Amino acid sequence: MIKRIALLWLALGGMALIVGAARQARAASIAPEITVEVRPTPIFPAQAGYVYVAGPYPLDVQGSINGQPLNFFWSGDGYVGLFAFDFDAPPGDYPIDVTVRQPGRVEPFVYQRALQMGESPYKEEYIALPLELTPLLDEEAEAVEAAQIQAVYDHMTPMTTWDWPYQLPIVDPIVTSPFGGERSYLDYQLKRRHTGTDLRRPGGSPVGATAAGRVAAVEAFQVHGLCVFLDHGWGVFSMYAHLSDAPVAVGDWVERGQVIGLVGSTGRSTAPHLHWEIAVNGIQVDPIEWMALMPGFERPPKVLYMPDGRELLQFPTPIPPPDY
Ligand SMILES: [Zn+2]
Repeated sequence: MIKRIALLWLALGGMALIVGAARQARAASIAPEITVEVRPTPIFPAQAGYVYVAGPYPLDVQGSINGQPLNFFWSGDGYVGLFAFDFDAPPGDYPIDVTVRQPGRVEPFVYQRALQMGESPYKEEYIALPLELTPLLDEEAEAVEAAQIQAVYDHMTPMTTWDWPYQLPIVDPIVTSPFGGERSYLDYQLKRRHTGTDLRRPGGSPVGATAAGRVAAVEAFQVHGLCVFLDHGWGVFSMYAHLSDAPVAVGDWVERGQVIGLVGSTGRSTAPHLHWEIAVNGIQVDPIEWMALMPGFERPPKVLYMPDGRELLQFPTPIPPPDY
């Protein structure tokens, strides 16, 4: 009998724990015709995601994540609110509150969940830069360039189009340097976050727009070399660096996959490759994880450098299906 009571206590205690924990974000139906989906779950620092509300048009959708307002827009088949967190986002449960009002109905529909923010997954890497390129490690020049890049990203253009899903900018890419690594140059005197993903392709290979958008800037930078910036609307930008050529001009509209440049090695680069960035709400986020918001996306293989100089290709594990 005592054993049974103890077991009952354990069971009740377990239930209390489950009920007490914040309900984690996932797809949920909040009304007969209205569903809310949040991706990714969990999220990590320097990643972006979305809250997607599917339902009849029109709806009045308002919401916030961790106290920050979500800016919902009509995507053509639902309402999308994009969010992004920087490298410093602390781990924990981030509350998501969404309120949906339907015309002719007084009571709003409400979605309240928590999005789990994980620990920072980024590693430190050391870059041995050839001596002739060391003058480019100029902190002031880097700071000026970073500010110029940030100035492009700090815009939110409402667009009538929302091109989704995105596609990788080059065919059969290999990741030679992932996003987010804290890079040390010159015996750790200079430290920089890697704010894009490096993809290897031979020089001269075409670079395609990752999604439809407008050319926001074409710049020849000291560090990033020749760069093209695309504005995809609603606070999303993509950037393509170290190009050898860029056959586009500011203001051009480009379709997804349209060639906007050629792989090169301009700026502070040791070999032809594409440095590719995605910024959401003014925050540089992991481009590969942005792509991975699409179910079924296969992450490209990564190069692992062995101590003897050999290279090994590592194929990431497939993305699990969404949790609904
Ligand atoms: Zn890079």
